Amino acid sequence: MEKMNAAMFYGPGDVRFETIEIPKPKAGEVLVKVRAALTCGTDIKTYQRGHPAIIKTIPSTFGHEFSGEIVEVGDGVKRFKPGMRVACCNAAPCQKCYFCKNNQQNLCDDLLILNGAYAEYIVVPQRLVELNLLEIPDHLSYHEAALAEPLGTAVHAVRLTKVKQGDTVVVIGSGPLGLMITRLSFLQGADVIQMGKGEERLELAKKFGAKEIIDIAKYRTIEEQVKKARSLTEDSRGADVVIEAVGKTEAWEEALKIVRKGGIVTFFGGCKGGTTITVDTVQLHYDELNLLGVFHQTPNDFRRSLKLLSTRLVDGREFVKETISLCNLVDAFTWVKDLKAIKYAIDPTKI
Ligand SMILES: [Zn+2]
Ligand SMILES: [Zn+2]
Repeated sequence: MEKMNAAMFYGPGDVRFETIEIPKPKAGEVLVKVRAALTCGTDIKTYQRGHPAIIKTIPSTFGHEFSGEIVEVGDGVKRFKPGMRVACCNAAPCQKCYFCKNNQQNLCDDLLILNGAYAEYIVVPQRLVELNLLEIPDHLSYHEAALAEPLGTAVHAVRLTKVKQGDTVVVIGSGPLGLMITRLSFLQGADVIQMGKGEERLELAKKFGAKEIIDIAKYRTIEEQVKKARSLTEDSRGADVVIEAVGKTEAWEEALKIVRKGGIVTFFGGCKGGTTITVDTVQLHYDELNLLGVFHQTPNDFRRSLKLLSTRLVDGREFVKETISLCNLVDAFTWVKDLKAIKYAIDPTKI
């Protein structure tokens, strides 16, 4: 039996690099040689505290943003053949439940989630092969194609928020997703105010079309950040739209302080389970706030995302500048948190 390198998740703070058997694709499945696997904030959170939805049993393979080359297909697979270059979403809906039939597949009661991108090979299950495995154009690099999954969630968020031409949109958070949301809001014709930290990230926000940048490291308190953000909106009345992409309760509450009367606040970043925020009932009611939670993406969002990367309206080449070996994965999580890079690509053949 042939073997491969894989990162295995044993529990919070415990990822081990092992040599395991290369899986065989069963009927309807496809075996992909991983050519690019990317670090992601969700994997960092999973590494630190586990993840009830993504990882249900341990030890588990790990990692979910990837692209690669098909090396083997199971019985009955017609659309794909060995040698094809593909991007894959990390989940697929059941197509049977109420939410799937209601065109809200991102809320599916039975989402099938795929883990195991931090390995040399990954088997893509039948449901994902049918719904969320896409061939990528020749000119698109594997690194760029692997961004289709995270970008799909940003497409979903901006689509549900209904960002319009001329809106003033404040994006809180300058991680990869915050930057993608900035880019997509700009493409919608909005004036974007990017809040965040890290020189490279804020530079990229500018490149992506942000009109104003607020480096939060320069402000001592959240109140000062809020004041600055509001001062950049017309008559300081607050933003038409605020999109939170940090995943911390402080940022969720900060978003409520920046929005104008009648405006929209979109909560994109997932907070730690069990946490709560406080909303001023007077503000919510009399200011007619629109509060919107967004999660994940639909197969259609994923397709749109790959299209945006393919045309380079969202230039994926800006996100990944360095490829590292698999055994540096945990170090890379720290480097990302220390703002040394936006994302890293992992080469699983090197351990
Ligand atoms: Zn991700
Ligand atoms: Zn469903």
